[in-house]
Amino acid sequence: MKCALVTGGSRGIGRAVCIKMAELGYHVLINYKGNEVAAQETLAAVKAKGSTGELLQFNVGDAAEVQQVLGGWVENNKEQQIEVLVNNAGIREDSLMFWMTDSQWNNVLNISLNGFYNVTKQVLNNMLLKRYGRIINMVSLSGIKGLPGQTNYSAAKAGVIGATKALAQEVAKRGVTVNAIAPGFIKTDMTAELNEKELAAQVPMNRFGTPEEVAEAVAFFTSKAAGYITGEVLNINGGLHT
Ligand code: NAP
Repeated sequence: MKCALVTGGSRGIGRAVCIKMAELGYHVLINYKGNEVAAQETLAAVKAKGSTGELLQFNVGDAAEVQQVLGGWVENNKEQQIEVLVNNAGIREDSLMFWMTDSQWNNVLNISLNGFYNVTKQVLNNMLLKRYGRIINMVSLSGIKGLPGQTNYSAAKAGVIGATKALAQEVAKRGVTVNAIAPGFIKTDMTAELNEKELAAQVPMNRFGTPEEVAEAVAFFTSKAAGYITGEVLNINGGLHT
């Protein structure tokens, strides 16, 4: 059974990616942090596509929990191969640096950057042994351009971009590709309280993107056809920044 693990798969972009992976025939491992109702909805949508899946609850920022839950899954499912890892879980806790608290800084860095490390560590070994893997990291325009009010989030996402490029070179010989996707404004819970009308007016395409549009790009990176692309960061932002 080919498996795809999507962190933060319960809602938003992660859910759309889970559904896309189901369409491509993967058994989908749907990670979430706490919203079980939403995670169950994603699982139902995966099954509605005729595929299978299961829920894996863990906080990507908690190394011990990742080791216990995901490490345990890997240990107990030796015949299954996680071919695709989408490091998508992320949060934002915006504040100008002047007012930023230590916890706002640490939370955002921990979930995006340490989360990437904690989760990737658990699945990389098997990809290397099997000489095949696709790792896709969800970063952000904020990590490329930097956005005021997001020093924590920009730093976390820029960190993941650096890690993407470094890891891509480490594992290329083993048939594992590592790429990143940098969305601009996408319509999800994360952007729900933003002034969409005002912000969309700054986007050349004059609208926010959809989670499904991001999932299409993930699907491309997972495909065998994208086998010669690695260490790349793909912008999906309606022309906001190139
Ligand atoms: P969202 O709608 O807020 O959903 C966040 C998802 O991440 C949920 O499934 C949530 O699980 C999960 N999550 C949060 N913290 C977690 C943790 N510690 N461990 C495991 N799962 C955790 O977010 P989104 O807009 O889809 O964003 C997905 C990714 O895209 C993030 O990395 C975000 O930074 C990035 N991004 C988003 C946008 C945008 O405009 N939306 C733009 C650029 C980049 P629960 O449901 O259990 O809470």
